[in-house]
Amino acid sequence: MKVYCPYCRKDVEYDLEKRDIKEFRGVVVDTYENVPVCKKCGNDLYISDIENENNKRIYDIYRSKEDIIKPQDIVNLRKKYNISQRELTYILGFGKMTINKYERGSLPTKSQSDYLKLLIENEHEFVKKVEEAYDKKNITKKTYEKIILNNKERHVNKKDIQELFREHIEQTLYRKPDIYNGYKEFDLDKIENIISYISSKVKNLTITSLNKYLWYIDMLSFNERTVSITGLTYEHEKYGPTIINQEYNEISLLDDKYKREDYENENGTITKIVSNKNYDLSKFSDSEIKIINKTIKLLKDKKVTEISEMSHNEDAWKKTKRYENISFEYASNLKFKI
Ligand SMILES: [Zn+2]
Repeated sequence: MKVYCPYCRKDVEYDLEKRDIKEFRGVVVDTYENVPVCKKCGNDLYISDIENENNKRIYDIYRSKEDIIKPQDIVNLRKKYNISQRELTYILGFGKMTINKYERGSLPTKSQSDYLKLLIENEHEFVKKVEEAYDKKNITKKTYEKIILNNKERHVNKKDIQELFREHIEQTLYRKPDIYNGYKEFDLDKIENIISYISSKVKNLTITSLNKYLWYIDMLSFNERTVSITGLTYEHEKYGPTIINQEYNEISLLDDKYKREDYENENGTITKIVSNKNYDLSKFSDSEIKIINKTIKLLKDKKVTEISEMSHNEDAWKKTKRYENISFEYASNLKFKI
């Protein structure tokens, strides 16, 4: 293939020379570039396809080393707020074609990249920027309202759903204090905090294990203080005592204090609880914290199957039938001892 050489002033044949690139914008990249060289005069030539390939190779390394945002990150930001390249450009006050160039693979400076990253990760900052742009009349009322409304809806919906879960859980699990909830009124706030706390201490906390942790905590508490901690009611299920009506599913979906992560293995879907580490232990008395800590200590190195088997050894499980509520009277002969 021939290409124009500005030195020879005619179309010439060329060789590709591979050259090392050690540094790019002050960052060690340790890669190479292909340079077309005129066979006649030996000068470097410019071929845009080859140059683009070279740039992409270098940019990819530079991006990952300097943590520079990717074109897709900007596209995603626009999609999230349903705005065009032009609208985003006006919001940011960048040069006219900047966003377009970045989305096509041009490399942002580190500072522009960091700035974009802040806006991508922080909705509040982005909305502030939108409001500024609107005040300065850089964007239209239509653009402004589209973004603000869109943003509101997204938040209201998420909050609403969480509130619905909470209401549903309260309604289903509430019962007057009696022997089936350890004479304690149901306390969802405490439950969320305990779960956040346990999951911060226990690696790979599955939902099956979590049921057992809560049950043992409440049983131990009842044994020591004749009152449970959470006010939960438990029933006899295949893998041991669990929160009644499978409400642990709804509880696992609350996401203020912990997150639910589902993953697949050979036994099907395993649900894991991961702490947000924002639990508040000031809601608990010293004796309650002691019981919770001891339970964690006794169970945290055990496998799910071991914990299930332990619970199967308890009178509370042996003397009840499937789906029957488990009375706290069995707390007095608990084999699980502190
Ligand atoms: Zn030449």
